[in-house]
This record gives sequence, structure tokens and C-alpha cells, in this order.
Amino acid sequence: MPAKMQGKASSTKASTAQRPSATPAGAVRLLDGLKALHPDAHCELDHKNAFELLCATVLSAQTTDVAVNKVTPKLFAAYPTAALLAAADSKEHVEPLISTIGMFRQKAKNIVGLAKMLIEKHGGEVPRTLEALVELPGVGRKTANVVLGVAFGAPEGVVVDTHVQRISQRLGLTRESEPEKIERALCKLLPRERWDETSHILIFHGRRICAAIKPNCEACGVKTLCPSAFHAEDIGRKPPRTRTSPEREESPPKPPKKRAAKA
Ligand code: SF4
Repeated sequence: MPAKMQGKASSTKASTAQRPSATPAGAVRLLDGLKALHPDAHCELDHKNAFELLCATVLSAQTTDVAVNKVTPKLFAAYPTAALLAAADSKEHVEPLISTIGMFRQKAKNIVGLAKMLIEKHGGEVPRTLEALVELPGVGRKTANVVLGVAFGAPEGVVVDTHVQRISQRLGLTRESEPEKIERALCKLLPRERWDETSHILIFHGRRICAAIKPNCEACGVKTLCPSAFHAEDIGRKPPRTRTSPEREESPPKPPKKRAAKA
């Protein structure tokens, strides 16, 4: 290995090793401090029951809660139960109701598909286990844990989204960078009865104070406990990636351009 690279590798290793990792007691202290800052932290997807929450969470993939909350009142007014949604035609009936959110065609298919499965396998009810939930179309571990935590108060893990990922790294709650490993680290550190609120609190903190680009450490109520205070900008941020806009994904392919006739 060239000397230059060796230097870089060892400094990266050193900085990772130096990054503190919280103890369970320290993690609880941090969570208590954040809870005091965001006592109103909660799931921001509007819903009246587990079925609505399940559909709203599936619709929220790569879309803001605000955008989802704009389409769900009409959707749930038209299809308030799994039986009614299962009988709907996703293209003709559901797509027009949710067409303002990203990937609406796939999402329309997913919620009609999951409603059918709820009728066929679960008597029209939302199942209460992660294993059964992740079998539903469009439902992964994250969505399943949102439903288990918010609707039933019994999550089987911590929901790790982009805010939870970034902030748990900044707070020294984990040295991991993959969501599954971060979830395992958080579950080890925090008591089970706090798993659900953990994600809501970290999400609110990420939206209000500990932003990806300019975290407001000066105004942060846990800055004395945070190992990244005032040097957090590069910690927990995703590398830039090229995103395909949902609209583009939904658009039909363009016909090839006609060649100009030679003079
Ligand atoms: S001190 Fe800064 S980096 Fe740490 S949690 Fe607060 S805002 Fe985020």
C-alpha cells in the first residue's frame, strides 16, 4: 500500500476508533434529553386506525408525510376498509387519488394488493407480527415497525430512517452505517418500551435542529452530551447520489428522435 494511502487508512481507523460509543445509561440520558426538547414527537402520518396507518406508511416511501397527508383523506373516504380497497381497480380507481405522490402507480398496486392479502389471510385485519406484515406488498421491516409501534405499541425494532441513521451516529449511539446494524445497536442500548418513541424523537430532532447540512449545535439542548457537537457536518451524511425523480420513473419512454434528412 502506498505510504499516502497507509496514512489515510490509519487516520480513518483512528477517527473511527476515537468516536465514542454510548453505554445503555448514556443512551437513555441522551434520549431523555431529546425527549425534553421534543415532547410532541409522534408519527406525522394522519390515520384513524391500523389499516389507514399501514396504507399511509406504504405510500410514504421516498415521499414526505405532508404529501401523503394531502392524498389520504380522499383515499380513505373512498376506501375506508380493506374489503373496499381490495375490490378496487388500482389503475382506474386508486391511481387518480394518489397521483401527486412519487411512484404512485406502484404504490396504488401495493395498497390494493395488501388489502387483498389482508382479506385472504388475516380476516381483513392488520396482522400484529413483523413476520406477517413483511409478507404484504410494499411492506418492509421499516414500515412493519412503524405499524407495530404506532398502532399496536409493540415494535419489534427501532425504525431507522435517514434522520435516525444520521443522528444516532452523531450522538455516538452507534459506529455502524447500515440501517439494519444501526437498528440492532439501538435495540441493544435502549429498553424495548422506548423503541417506538426513539425513532419519532430522533426524526423530530433531525428535522428541527440536527439537520444534515447545518446542524444547529448552538441551539441544541443535548450539546453537552453529544460527542459530535460543533463538528458534526460530515458525520452521518449519506454520500451524494443521483436520484431518479418518481415522475420520471412513472413517465412512458420517449420515442426515438427523428434524424434530420440529409441535404
Ligand atoms: S450537538 Fe449538534 S450534532 Fe449533536 S445532536 Fe445537537 S445538533 Fe446534532
